[in-house]
Amino acid sequence: MADALAIQPDVRFLKRVLASGGGDLKKCYQCATCSVACELAPEESPFPRKQMMEAQWGLKAQLLCDPAIWLCHNCGKCTERCPRGARPGDVLGAVRREAIRHFAFPGWMGALVADPKWLPLLFLLPALIFAAVAFWAPKPVPAPPFEFGSVFPASVLEPLFFAISGFALLAFAVGVVRFARGIGETPSAGFGAALKDIAAHQSFKQCDDASMRLAHQLTMWGFAGLAMVGTATGIGTMAGVLRTPLALESPLKIFANLAAAASLAGVTLLLARRVGRPASTYFDWFFLAALSGVVFTGIAAELLRLAEARAMYGVYFVHLVLIFGLLLYAPYSKFAHLAYRTVAMARSRKFNARS
Ligand code: SF4
Ligand code: SF4
Repeated sequence: MADALAIQPDVRFLKRVLASGGGDLKKCYQCATCSVACELAPEESPFPRKQMMEAQWGLKAQLLCDPAIWLCHNCGKCTERCPRGARPGDVLGAVRREAIRHFAFPGWMGALVADPKWLPLLFLLPALIFAAVAFWAPKPVPAPPFEFGSVFPASVLEPLFFAISGFALLAFAVGVVRFARGIGETPSAGFGAALKDIAAHQSFKQCDDASMRLAHQLTMWGFAGLAMVGTATGIGTMAGVLRTPLALESPLKIFANLAAAASLAGVTLLLARRVGRPASTYFDWFFLAALSGVVFTGIAAELLRLAEARAMYGVYFVHLVLIFGLLLYAPYSKFAHLAYRTVAMARSRKFNARS
């Protein structure tokens, strides 16, 4: 007699998937229309039908270590075509949220960011830090030209943001290594192709969704540009070779303004798409709201500075609070999909190259 297959459903996991956007998964009757509709699903291992079945059974271990959940771009085509209204695209989104929480380092940070009840605390912490910085800084000059640095000194901000970024990178690294171990092998081969694909957003072409591709490209490259300028300015300021604010005609400032314009266009497109999606969750909004807030307050603070308005200090305070949240909570938010998707795509490339 063949050995019996032992299935160990995780009921708590199933309840969390149902609560965080996977509420219709029980309607699925395994017709596989979704796997046929998905343009990204490879022939040899189609998704999301199989993942729908695993989610119904509460098979947490199989799902969280399944690279396929990260190959999905949440385009919604499978959800549109599902004859039962089981919303497979949203179920995969809910499973990805669980994966980010499961692999989070430290785990309690993943739980804090995933739960809306902790949202005030998450942003109260940076608000108190920057209020303290402003309180102990020298008093701002009473007349224009006003400078951000007179209330929020670069000598405090730069080390603080470098420390936060270092912690976030460590958290990303641990999470990704945990996931790579979970999928069973270290996908060294295939990384180059995966990064090339992500840089050009090639997979979005398969989804035939030009506006989604453009929105993601503008946002990703805009923020990459801003991160580069921020890092270069921070290092230059600490080394004493740069002084802020940068002159409007300096190459670094011109590059920063172009990157800010790309980010603004990108997040506006993303917001427009998200507003039109009724199934959006707290997790979807957390990262997008922080991202948009950073862009809008950054541009507003700069315009107020150029207009020599003292209100720039208040807007800049909100900007700093949001940057702090965006960086520190990035490994536990939707931003983490960039890291996990890279590993999953590298694994997929390696697998495809073998078959
Ligand atoms: S999710 Fe919908 S389309 Fe996919 S297998 Fe289930 S019932 Fe069919
Ligand atoms: S949401 Fe789009 S990419 Fe994701 S499984 Fe459905 S059809 Fe495929």
